[in-house]
Amino acid sequence: MKRALVCGAGGFIGGHLVKKLKREGYWVRGVDIKRHEYAKTQADEFLKLDLRVEKNCRKALTVEGGIFDEVYQLAADMGGMGFIHSAECEIMHNSALVNIYMIHTAAEMGIKRYFFSSSVCVYRDMKLGEPEMPESGAFPALPDNEYGWEKIYSERICMAYGRKYGMAIRIARFQNCYGAEGTWTGGREKAPAAMCRKIASVENGGTIEIWGDGTAVRSYTHVDDMVDGIYMLMQSNLEGAVNIGCPQYVSVNELVTTVCEVAGKKVNVNHVKGPVGVQSRNFSNARIYSIGWKPKIFLKEGIEKTYPWIQKQIRKAARKA
Ligand code: NAD
Repeated sequence: MKRALVCGAGGFIGGHLVKKLKREGYWVRGVDIKRHEYAKTQADEFLKLDLRVEKNCRKALTVEGGIFDEVYQLAADMGGMGFIHSAECEIMHNSALVNIYMIHTAAEMGIKRYFFSSSVCVYRDMKLGEPEMPESGAFPALPDNEYGWEKIYSERICMAYGRKYGMAIRIARFQNCYGAEGTWTGGREKAPAAMCRKIASVENGGTIEIWGDGTAVRSYTHVDDMVDGIYMLMQSNLEGAVNIGCPQYVSVNELVTTVCEVAGKKVNVNHVKGPVGVQSRNFSNARIYSIGWKPKIFLKEGIEKTYPWIQKQIRKAARKA
């Protein structure tokens, strides 16, 4: 039986990845600084460890009778635009330490296959209508935020260790990911979860606030598609960074309309000042398509899967208050 380590297993994508690996027949150890807030872990073993500490990375990677066949590194100090713009030092310090110690220890311990979760935040801002950006377009680098700079550094340290130690490094640059069992409140939530929460919390005909004028364009990838992509990439021979994202690009206003349709509500939108991030996105998926991955869940269906879960969380939180 193959054995996999998932770092960040107490988080959104890591939690779903553990389930995917279990379905694929792996023995899985999950590691995180905290337990999952919304789901019981499906991992065979869960270790609560702070991976900013080198000896904890060693503990995470130590397993009886050999080494892990695959290591998936998704742990990061992370959140939506509000968090990214207000916690620059935490992101650059905490996530970089995790990535430095994890790759260094993995190399020392002879790990042969290592996955790193990067982000499309490594790219510069784009204008509406620009042609698709391939992975090579990340350089010369001009990310819009420090989170993106940390991801660039961590991609490169992983590749450097891969070259020196003969490790197969697989790097995915995720587009915005959404789905059930992800952060939906508290300041770290991303746009789809925030919109679901705002619309679920307001009466039909009420008013919600959104940051900016609502024209910023993004693509949103459902977490089930994302974990399929991560797994396929890890099994593939694709070297270097690989974009993973749904090719359906929508404005923030269109995202609001979609959530309203699913909720069966009409809301008024009050556009307020806030950290909007980049104006536009349009990335090539040619590399991930080349190994047979295609998204199966488009925005409306993904929101239909996500909105009821967030509604349930709101009700639960109200009962507790
Ligand atoms: P998440 O915040 O839900 O999960 C990250 C997990 O890392 C959290 O559970 C957190 O507790 C853990 N962590 C943080 N610091 C740690 C430490 N010192 N030691 C151990 N664990 C620690 O985020 P997510 O959405 O699941 O993202 C997973 C990965 O994917 C991250 O690397 C993130 O940067 C990347 N990513 C996510 C998205 C997205 O839209 N969700 C987009 C691009 C990239």
